[in-house]
Amino acid sequence: MSQKYITYIIFVATLFSSSLIAQKPVVVSSATMFTDMVKNIAGDLVTTETIVPIGGDPHLHTPTPRDAKLVKSADLLMLNGLTFEGWINELIENSGTKGKTIMITEGVDPISSDTYKNSTDPHAWMDLANGRIYIKNIAKALKELDPANASTYEANYKSYDQQLADLDAYVIEKIKEIPKEKRILITSHDAFKYYGKRYGIRLEAIQGISTDSEIQTSDIKRVSYTIKRYEVPSVFVESTINPKQLKLIASDNGAIIGGKLYADSLGDKDSPAATYLDMIKSNTNTIVAGLSAGATDKSEEVGIENKGGKSNLILYGIMGLLLLGGMLFLIKKLS
Ligand SMILES: [Zn+2]
Repeated sequence: MSQKYITYIIFVATLFSSSLIAQKPVVVSSATMFTDMVKNIAGDLVTTETIVPIGGDPHLHTPTPRDAKLVKSADLLMLNGLTFEGWINELIENSGTKGKTIMITEGVDPISSDTYKNSTDPHAWMDLANGRIYIKNIAKALKELDPANASTYEANYKSYDQQLADLDAYVIEKIKEIPKEKRILITSHDAFKYYGKRYGIRLEAIQGISTDSEIQTSDIKRVSYTIKRYEVPSVFVESTINPKQLKLIASDNGAIIGGKLYADSLGDKDSPAATYLDMIKSNTNTIVAGLSAGATDKSEEVGIENKGGKSNLILYGIMGLLLLGGMLFLIKKLS
């Protein structure tokens, strides 16, 4: 073997090994709010990926070949569990991943489901005290995966944890602005039980803890009754769910749309819920404004057509003009 050839092999081997060293660990999360938590603790020390994209509904997600590739590439897989990602086991199996699966809800006290026996409510992140457990689990997993950077993860975790604690205190105080008898939160699906439990709000939703169930007439009757009985001023639509049904119930019972809440996904980067912390803060501010005196209808802001509203007026106007034009044409023809 010539000297030149050996030098070449050493050069390629060095390049290859340094590219391996430079490769960051890949952390794949099931939903956008968990990816944001990972980013806050890991910064750019890891590559973060999300299975269900922004605005997607994790309850109803259908895994794609892209998801299988993502999961296969994962060093860590961050999952909520508690029946949130019903499709994940099959995806993990099919992907052939060697990554480690982390249940970031470990240590959370789960709320059991009213609808399904032996099932739990997955939406534990909506309570910031639980959020602090999530990020503790995430920090622990990152330190184990990458011990060389453990002190950075720990420092980031500590300051992020303080931000969660501060926001928790903010929410507790903010909710007090709603008159006690008006602390009733009506939404599309039951994603706010943990939130309601921690911050003292009664919950009512037209769908259960998952979005895969059909809405029953009895659900509509139950929610309608609550709106009328307690004179609930506003109900709230969700960013991942079609608001049509809820809007109908609201207008039939004299309530308005108090705004859009984010439960199962963050909003896009220009939305008020681009991060986990902003999501909880935005939800809280929307809920407080909607349930306090002087609440205003946010239907237009969240893109819901009002019955007999502006859009219908425009339509009638156009129809009227067409009719008038037709008549003028006919008159001219006849004369
Ligand atoms: Zn949900």
